[in-house]
Amino acid sequence: MTTVKAFASPSATGDLVSTTIERREVGAHDILIDIKFAGICHSDIHTVRGDWGPQQYPLVPGHEIAGIVTEVGSAVTKHAVGDRVGVGCMVNSCRECVNCLKGEEQYCLKGNVGTYGAVDRDGSITQGGYSTHVVVTEDFVVRIPEGIDLDVAAPLLCAGITTFSPLHHWGAGEGKKVAVVGLGGLGHMAVKIAAAMGAEVTVLSQSLKKQEDGLRLGAQHYYATSEPETFEKLAGSFDLIINTVSASIDISSYLQLLSLDGALVNVGAPAEPLPVNAFALIGGRRSFAGSMIGGIRETQEMLDFCAEHKIGAEIEVIAADKINEAYERVLASDVRYRFVIDTATL
Ligand code: NAP
Ligand code: ZN
Ligand code: ZN
Repeated sequence: MTTVKAFASPSATGDLVSTTIERREVGAHDILIDIKFAGICHSDIHTVRGDWGPQQYPLVPGHEIAGIVTEVGSAVTKHAVGDRVGVGCMVNSCRECVNCLKGEEQYCLKGNVGTYGAVDRDGSITQGGYSTHVVVTEDFVVRIPEGIDLDVAAPLLCAGITTFSPLHHWGAGEGKKVAVVGLGGLGHMAVKIAAAMGAEVTVLSQSLKKQEDGLRLGAQHYYATSEPETFEKLAGSFDLIINTVSASIDISSYLQLLSLDGALVNVGAPAEPLPVNAFALIGGRRSFAGSMIGGIRETQEMLDFCAEHKIGAEIEVIAADKINEAYERVLASDVRYRFVIDTATL
């Protein structure tokens, strides 16, 4: 065991505080990563505050990890000391079920092992990336291509893959009209990636405050959902809507914005239910779907795609003592567009 620095949440209500945690010895298939940057995802906040259920504390969040390999186990073949690597939302899965065998480890039938707050193989609780080092089995570590700096790469490990995967699966590309609901961490990546795929992108944000940014990131159109005319004007417009909103919204009014056979894919994960009016679906053979992160192979594809299209996240790098303030700003939708912790400040 090695003792490393970290920032942890002591309870569902307390501020995150500086602490130390133990990382396991590097096993034959393990990699020791010197974490350089860790993104702050809204899921970190949902988790530590208990929105999704009770947690075991102290809890170190962080599943947007970018760093450098400093040690590899004797049987490791995929990565070498000095490599630039990333770790996302999961650090293991059963590797045997039908979904794992398809490379969709996030949908492992036995449950993937989350990067934090999950029971690891040895029975310990995993601790995440707000930390200086982490030990991860090589199959759940991806390569960060040259050409993407580690700070802007970190958010790709969750916000990037969570939006790339449904955009890819539902065929965003030339001739497709895609709307992105919510311009936060996930939303801004969805705009960049959908635009790079060739789709015509529209942002649906609560207000027009971030319109200039949205257009600069690659959207052609930008509307405020606080204005009721938006819903009349855009009725029947989109092939695909990606909903990234962290709170419950009136899904039925967004479904009305889909064209025939269109799909609204929910990636936002509010604790509250998302009620749907049946007529909003049947009136246009529409689909209401969901999507969770992406598999390891697809995460590597996403990183290679982002490198090819020169896409990174728009970030605000913060020191560890600003984590609690950053949480409050994310909750107030005051993020442009991802907070990233410089782990040297831990
Ligand atoms: P974020 O940075 O806080 O962005 C969410 C955006 O939603 C905000 O910036 C805001 O955009 C909009 N919004 C917030 N509250 C709203 C409200 N009450 N009504 C309407 N719009 C609202 O969060 P994030 O990190 O992108 O994560 C978004 C959600 O996705 C979270 O629930 C998170 O847990 C979930 N998530 C899911 C997956 C997955 O695998 N499916 C992966 C990662 C995260 P505007 O200011 O533009 O309106
Ligand atoms: Zn996340
Ligand atoms: Zn499995």
